Amino acid sequence: MPNRRILVLDDDAAVGQTIQWIAESLGFEAEFVTRPDEFLQRLDQMSPDIITIDLVMPELDGVEIMRLLAERKCRAKIVISSGMGTRVLDAAQRSASEHGLSIAGVISKPISKEALRLLVGEGSESNEPQSVETQSASRDEFEVTAPDLQNALDRHEFVLAYQPKIECRSGATAGFEALVRWKHPDRGIVMPDQFIPVAENAGLIDALTAQIFDQSLEWFSQSFPQSNLKLSLNISAKSLVDIQMADNLSAVCHRFQIDTERIVLELTETSAMVDPILSLDLLTRLRMKGFQLSIDDFGTGFSSMIQLVRLPFSEIKVDKSFVMQAQHSSESRSVIKSIVELGHSLGLLVTAEGVENLKTLDYLNSLGCDLAQGYFIARPMPGEAARNWVEQRKQRIST
Ligand code: C2E
Ligand code: CA
Ligand code: CA
Repeated sequence: MPNRRILVLDDDAAVGQTIQWIAESLGFEAEFVTRPDEFLQRLDQMSPDIITIDLVMPELDGVEIMRLLAERKCRAKIVISSGMGTRVLDAAQRSASEHGLSIAGVISKPISKEALRLLVGEGSESNEPQSVETQSASRDEFEVTAPDLQNALDRHEFVLAYQPKIECRSGATAGFEALVRWKHPDRGIVMPDQFIPVAENAGLIDALTAQIFDQSLEWFSQSFPQSNLKLSLNISAKSLVDIQMADNLSAVCHRFQIDTERIVLELTETSAMVDPILSLDLLTRLRMKGFQLSIDDFGTGFSSMIQLVRLPFSEIKVDKSFVMQAQHSSESRSVIKSIVELGHSLGLLVTAEGVENLKTLDYLNSLGCDLAQGYFIARPMPGEAARNWVEQRKQRIST
C-alpha cells in the first residue's frame, strides 16, 4: 500500500518544516507550503489524504481556507493547528464540520509527534480500524435523484451495517444501531448522508424505512432471538405524519416475534417535524406500544431542550461532535457532563456516540454515562460480523 500523504499549510516556514518532519517520521509522504495560493495548487496536484492548516495566517486565514476546501468538496481529513485558545479552535472545528468537511481534530502548537499520531495514525499503515465498508465506500459524490432511489428500492439495493453499543460500566454489549448503506451496482457503497435527504424530499423515506425495518428485524430475530440486546433504528422526523406508524411498526415486531421494548427509535432534527401536535400523538402511541424513543444528536441545534421536555423520550444521545472532542476540549467535557446530569435527572438513559479513544470512554464512565458507541469500540459492520462480534466480546470480558 502506498504511504498516505499529508499537505501542511503554515505561514511560518519553520513550523511547517517541523510538521513535515514529524509526519515523515510517522511514515507519511509530507510537504509543506507557506502561502494559500501555493497550497491550492499543491492540493490539486498531490490530492493529500490529510491536510493540516494553521488557523491564523496573514493572507487568508484558516477559516477562509476551509470555506474554499468545502466549495471544492475536499475529502481529505483536516487537522486544524493553532496557538489559539481551545474555544476558538472548537469554533473553527465546528464551522468546518458544518461545511461538510471531515475533521480529524485540532492540535495545539507546539505540535508533538504523539499528538499528531493520535489524530491521524501512521502513514504507511493506517492504525484506524478499517472495516470492509470503509474500504469500499464510494468516495466521489454523485447527484442522487428520486428515480435512482425508487429504482434502488425496487431492486432492494439497501443494506444495513450494525454498530455496537456497550454499557460503559461493564463493557458488555447492550445492542446495535442499524445504519443504512446503498449498495450501488456501479458506485459501491454509498453512505446515508448522500441519499437520506433526497429520500426525505422525494417522499420515499417511508418506503425506505419500511425496508430497513423489515431487513434489520429479520436479522435481529435470527441473530439474537433470546437476549436482552436492543436494536436502535433511525427514524426521520419527516416520517412522523402517519398516525398508523405505531401499528405498522408493532406489526413488523410481532411478525418477527421481537418484543417492542427491545427496539429503540432514534429521532434527529425533531425541530423539523412537519406537524408538532400529530408527532406528539404519534410518539406517545409508539411509547405506549412499548418502543423506546431516543433523541439523537442532542446538543446540536436540531435536538433542543424544548423537544426533550415535550416528547416522551426514554434515551438521550449526546452528539458525537462533543464526544469526539472530549479529550482535547474542556468545554466539550462540560457539555457532556451537563447532558449526562440532565438526562439522568429526567430518568433517561444516556448514550454517548463518537467515542474514538479509551480516555473518552473512561471519562464517560467516570460521569456515570450509561452507554457508549463509537469507532474505538467498533465500526459499523455487516450483520454476520456483528453476530460474531457479540460472541468475541463475551469471551474477552469473561477472561
Ligand atoms: P447518526 O444517527 O448520528 O449515526 C451516527 C453516525 O456516526 C454514523 O454515520 C456512524 O457511522 C458514525 N459514527 C459512529 N461512531 C463514530 C465515531 O466514533 N466517530 C465518527 N466520526 N463517526 C462515528 P453514518 O452511518 O454515515 O450515518 C450518518 C447519518 O445518516 C446518521 O447519523 C443518521 O442520521 C442517518 N441514517 C443512517 N441510517 C439511517 C436510516 O436507516 N434511516 C434514517 N432515516 N437515517 C439514517
Ligand atoms: Ca442515530
Ligand atoms: Ca447521532
